[in-house]
This record gives sequence, C-alpha cells and structure tokens, in this order.
Amino acid sequence: MTTLEEVRQRVESDAKSNGYYLNPDPEVLRHLLEGLRKNEERYDYPSCPCRLAFESFELDRDIICPCDYRDPDVDEYGSCYCSLFVSKDVFEGKIPLKPIPERRPNEKQIGPHIKSAKAFTKTTAVKATASIRKSSERGMKLFYCRQCGYVCFREEPPYLCPICKAKRELFAEVTIS
Ligand code: SF4
Repeated sequence: MTTLEEVRQRVESDAKSNGYYLNPDPEVLRHLLEGLRKNEERYDYPSCPCRLAFESFELDRDIICPCDYRDPDVDEYGSCYCSLFVSKDVFEGKIPLKPIPERRPNEKQIGPHIKSAKAFTKTTAVKATASIRKSSERGMKLFYCRQCGYVCFREEPPYLCPICKAKRELFAEVTIS
C-alpha cells in the first residue's frame, strides 16, 4: 500500500523537476495528498483528488496526477485545478489562488448533471453511472460546493473546497435517483 509520505515525496519530486511548488497551506496540501493516496488505493492509479473517476484506466488516463491539464492551468492561472501544484508567485503570495474553469472535456466529466449530459457518449454515461453506484455501495456520497460547483465523491465533505476554499458547511449532498 502506498503511504502518504511516498505520495508526498513523489509529488514534491515532480514539482521540483518541473519548476512548480506545492500548495503552501499545510492543511489543504495534506487533504489533497490523502485524496491521491486513497484514489491510488481504490483504483490502482492516482487519479485527480478533485474529480470523479470512471474507475477505468483508459477513461481516466487524462486525470492521472499530474494530469494533462496541469501545465496549461499553472501557466494561465498560477495553479492546477486542485491547487496542488502552484506557481512561484502563488506560493509566495504575490498572486492569490482563484477558481479555475474545468479544462477536461464535457464528455469526460461526471457530476450532478449526469442525467442530462447530452455530451456523454453511451459508453461513458454507462461507465459513469456504474462508477457512482460502486462508490455509493462503499458508503461514499456525492457532494458539491454551493459556492463554486466543485463536485467530489467522499465519505464526508472536504474540510475546505480545493477550488474556491469554501468551508465544509458550504457543501451539500447530491442524491442521484
Ligand atoms: S488538477 Fe492538480 S491534483 Fe488534480 S490531477 Fe491535475 S495536477 Fe494532479
């Protein structure tokens, strides 16, 4: 089993070799690393801790951390979607962290819009529904941030929204029938 320390070392080494920094808030950083560790334990690959996974390596390939969207997001906004990797300016507090629009294509997003997502292909919709059911069976629930719309599957809502930093109280549970 991968430990939190191993995840931390891997992420630190990746940040260093690419000229990035890790989120300067120790509590947020710990939650993100723990999310990566849990996803690696569940799926056998460290899928993004801020996105719902299909639980299929092929479908999730683009969100295995560091995801395909990290470099353009850090370049344009100063941090990746989860704010795990940040630029020097963000790390030093010269520019603030801000909400980042999702770069992942619509047809690969799973969220509360799943029932009406016209962009979903039949295959991805079936896999998304199966993924949500499997997670529900494990006692996990779907939560969304009422401030920025960020969606996550967890046992409890996150301590802080990794996108807009809203507190746990601003999360609501989504029920999928
Ligand atoms: S958004 Fe950040 S934490 Fe999520 S997969 Fe991409 S690089 Fe990793």
